[in-house]
Amino acid sequence: MEHFLAKFAKHIKKKVIELTRLIIVISYLEFICLLKIDFWDFTMSIIKTINLNKIYDAETEIPVHAVNDVSLEFEAGEFTAIIGPSGCGKTTLLNLLGGLDRPTSGTVTIDGTDIIKLSSSEIIDFRLRNIGFVFQAYNLVPVLTAKENVEFIMQLQGIPKQQREERVLQLFEQIGLKDRLNNRPGKLSGGQQQRVAVARALASKPKFVLADEPTANLDSKSTSNLLDIMEKLNEVENTTFIFSTHDSRVMKRARRLVSLEDGKVVSDNNQMEHR
Ligand code: ADP
Ligand code: MG
Repeated sequence: MEHFLAKFAKHIKKKVIELTRLIIVISYLEFICLLKIDFWDFTMSIIKTINLNKIYDAETEIPVHAVNDVSLEFEAGEFTAIIGPSGCGKTTLLNLLGGLDRPTSGTVTIDGTDIIKLSSSEIIDFRLRNIGFVFQAYNLVPVLTAKENVEFIMQLQGIPKQQREERVLQLFEQIGLKDRLNNRPGKLSGGQQQRVAVARALASKPKFVLADEPTANLDSKSTSNLLDIMEKLNEVENTTFIFSTHDSRVMKRARRLVSLEDGKVVSDNNQMEHR
């Protein structure tokens, strides 16, 4: 009997140890999961929109719902294209992401700042410090040289001359226009002007660059050249690029494609998974 009890006790002890081990393993796995959840929270998006809407002419009989309930997140280092036919809301969405326009409703949070809550003067300052813009029509100042066009933004930010000079040279090296520093925009081709515009957008190392159909006015060689430069800057400087396009050659180069139809996001794909 005693022998049986001893054996039973030993058996129970073994089971308890096994159970304890199991509990430890489960707790450990739970802990790992928790860490993972925290990890996801840490890779916080650089831009986040929640239920973003822009209705033009809202008070009229024919309101235009240009951006319709868009909730999107963009992370640092992305190379993303917003695509869709003319009139689908690409420009409106980019303008909202960059604080160039205010939404009818919804939020835009950039690196933790709810930009809708900023005053008009605060948003100007915020844009200057955080966002680079590239427009379809280059928008360089015609009376300034290529170098001055790029330096101008840094001047506004109060960056010292020596630092400005170094940055300008570094950027012109990247865009392959070191020999054109002192040319005015009128003496540059469309492709070259757009490369200067990209350099200008990156001058002050913004958190991200928004480019609205940057290749729309370029021939195919200049388009491919501009994309090479944007890709290189995305890699070398880890600049986040969000650009709009309806050009299939440009879409192919994006790593993520967000597709709009009538202001709504109809698909959002990571192209790298399909390569
Ligand atoms: P995309 O850039 O894709 O061509 P837009 O964002 O320019 O599209 O335009 C989306 C819709 O909003 C279109 O129907 C356009 O006509 C309309 N829209 C754009 N800007 C204005 C504006 N300032 N006033 C009224 N309607 C506008
Ligand atoms: Mg547009």
